[in-house]
Amino acid sequence: MGTPTPPPSAAKIRRTSSSGGSGSIILEKYQLGRLLGRGSFAKVYLARLLDNPSAPEVAIKVIDKAATVDAAMEPRIVREVSAMRRLHHHSNILTLHEVMATKTKIYLVMELAPGGELFAKLARSRRFSESTARRYFHQLISALRFCHQNGVFHRDIKPQNLLLDQNGLLKITDFGLSALSEQKIDGLVRTACGTPAYTAPEVISRKGYDAEKADAWSCGVLLYVFLVGSLPFDDGNLSNMYRAMHRRAFEFPDFVSKSAKIVIYRLLDPNPNTRLSLDELIKLSWFKKSFSQENLRSQGSDENPTGSEFLDSKQFKFMPRVNAFDLISMSSGLDLSGLFEEETTSSKEIRFTSKMEVAEIEEKVSKAGLEFQYRVERRKGGAMRLVKGRAVVVVEIWGVAPELWLVELRLVDGAAELGESQWGELRLGIGAIMAQ
Ligand code: ADP
Ligand code: MG
Repeated sequence: MGTPTPPPSAAKIRRTSSSGGSGSIILEKYQLGRLLGRGSFAKVYLARLLDNPSAPEVAIKVIDKAATVDAAMEPRIVREVSAMRRLHHHSNILTLHEVMATKTKIYLVMELAPGGELFAKLARSRRFSESTARRYFHQLISALRFCHQNGVFHRDIKPQNLLLDQNGLLKITDFGLSALSEQKIDGLVRTACGTPAYTAPEVISRKGYDAEKADAWSCGVLLYVFLVGSLPFDDGNLSNMYRAMHRRAFEFPDFVSKSAKIVIYRLLDPNPNTRLSLDELIKLSWFKKSFSQENLRSQGSDENPTGSEFLDSKQFKFMPRVNAFDLISMSSGLDLSGLFEEETTSSKEIRFTSKMEVAEIEEKVSKAGLEFQYRVERRKGGAMRLVKGRAVVVVEIWGVAPELWLVELRLVDGAAELGESQWGELRLGIGAIMAQ
């Protein structure tokens, strides 16, 4: 990989821009172009590779960490990244190329969907003909079934999250709200989420729910919107809307065919147990009409059905000190240790990842400690500690993926005694020993 020499114009921009918006260079690798869209938590820009301007353009979602320090946002980002990484083998799901991060921002580099939002197209034509609606619906269902088979549930299916590529092919995006199946408790997802007008009643009422059936409901709303051009349930008052959902109080204009009505009616069943499942849906003759087997085949080539190379969310439950940023950078296989260092200097923490055996890591850390006159304490069942006078450094090792450990050294006591230079010494010493 060498360091790419940016074209003169780019170098000029690099000096002048620091906003992180259009025109900026990020991590010496991409130049951001125009703003493509704004989501609830992020901005999405067109971007191109600096050292290969003829490579296809990409879309980069920029998430401001300052705005996401809020603990509630972190799981959202992790979910989005993990869901997208597990699903890159389906032609109707937007590919996530890479994840990058700096001290202040997280960048998700994605496949570009030059056709924009399906919503915009729908708004232009007001509604779709039955054959157009069915074509998009085929792609949507094909992608969603693939998601479900891989243990990912979208939970925020709505036209704004359906994009189009240059050939008009549907691309699902915004997996921010998707619940990984690992988070199911008793087979039921427990968090309420989504956009009310597209969200199943059992989700709104915050009961545990079957995410697969909840996605099926959203598909029913979407099919209605495709064919009619307005929402089946649309009331600013949530309790009125909720009541309408339970009564199935929606009407069809005459131009909707009888068989399409039946499909929508069965998907918009307030009872998730009797609601049409996607597996049943694809057997209906309305759906099967002009459904190409290509659609089904495109979901076949899954080299990584369980996403086993990705960190399993179950393992994170025991790692309270690891934030989304850590997970993203580790899971993407990027070495962002430089960034960690910068970020943690002031708080007297040293963090790094290692693939060595735990015993070997402990041995190396204690060797570095001894070299700088720390006493090494190992308490049964507790973390290892490096002690010098009143200074106490706790060493914790977390398993974050098979054979990948996150090592953390934290000064918990005696900060006054242990100056910057001694801390810097220890950091360098550990770095040197770990590299041996
Ligand atoms: P959020 O999760 O914050 O809602 P989204 O992922 O939905 O953000 O992105 C916001 C908007 O940016 C989208 O509605 C769309 O208009 C645009 N956008 C997102 N991803 C792409 C992409 N890959 N190509 C083109 N436009 C995109
Ligand atoms: Mg969105």
